[in-house]
Amino acid sequence: MAEPIGIVTAKDALLAAAGRLREADIPSARLDAEVLLAHVLGVRREYLYAHPERRLSFNEYERYQAVLEQRLTRLPVAYITGKKEFMSLEFTVDQHVLIPRPETEVLVEEVISRVRPCGGAFLPLANPMIIADIGTGSGAIAVSIAWFVEDAQVIATDISGDALDVARANARKHNLGHRIKFLQGDLLAPLADEGLEHRLTAVVSNPPYLSRRAMASVTPEVALEPKSALFGGEAGLDFSFAILEQARPYLVPDGFVALEVGYDQAEAVASFAKEELGYGKVEVIRDLAGIERVVIAGQ
Ligand code: SAM
Ligand code: GLN
Repeated sequence: MAEPIGIVTAKDALLAAAGRLREADIPSARLDAEVLLAHVLGVRREYLYAHPERRLSFNEYERYQAVLEQRLTRLPVAYITGKKEFMSLEFTVDQHVLIPRPETEVLVEEVISRVRPCGGAFLPLANPMIIADIGTGSGAIAVSIAWFVEDAQVIATDISGDALDVARANARKHNLGHRIKFLQGDLLAPLADEGLEHRLTAVVSNPPYLSRRAMASVTPEVALEPKSALFGGEAGLDFSFAILEQARPYLVPDGFVALEVGYDQAEAVASFAKEELGYGKVEVIRDLAGIERVVIAGQ
């Protein structure tokens, strides 16, 4: 069957879509309209600027309206397109996993710079270097560390089997399946039978850290992400404290724990590491917005 005659141009479709999203108070309405149209047309976003007069087929137009309806329910764009960029790598995502956040790149960059401080020359901390990512979700942290630290072996854990399926798919997508071992279970518990005592160079995690109060005021988009990926107990600190405690027996002598923390949690996490658990070297790293975002606890 011949392609139906185009009914509307990309430019006009975008204008109307951005208007609808704006009216519904959706933040970044224009950007979302563009990303979703590019998704439906199977092109990059820049294509839309170069070809504003491109006519949508009837089928494309219908599919565009359908994804706009999804976005109007406040479903995040990444769940609609099924992908999100993190550390310049593309990750598959679905509603079983947290959508990787730009602030988590601060955590990953900090870890990478510590295990390969001379940009290529590796510090011989442990042989082979093993790094664990606790609560891997989409695998964003595990896969990007394996990608950028070429001689690292990575262990990735999650309590959710559905999340681990997504993480495994992302490891395969970047040809890193052979360097990442996925284990299902509670925090570091699945490491117990792996013979890893004093073998880990780093234990990295972006754990669920929203407090009960923070959970009550998340955006409608965040409310559609898995609660089990977000809620960190009354004050949001349960997982951070537990990881610091459980990690110690696994670290090599120069090893460290690297945790992403909520905007007001760095001090509590840093002092728990120092005072309660006796970590000797504790540092706090700020993100690009100047917020204390990462706590590093070394032996
Ligand atoms: N690492 C991913 C990232 O940074 O984008 C996802 C982080 S998400 C904030 C936290 C993850 O921890 C979720 O995938 C959740 O399933 C997992 N999780 C929650 N409770 C857990 C537990 N007790 N043990 C292991 N993982 C857990
Ligand atoms: N940064 C996420 C948010 O504010 C929370 C992620 C987490 O709990 N680790 O929605």
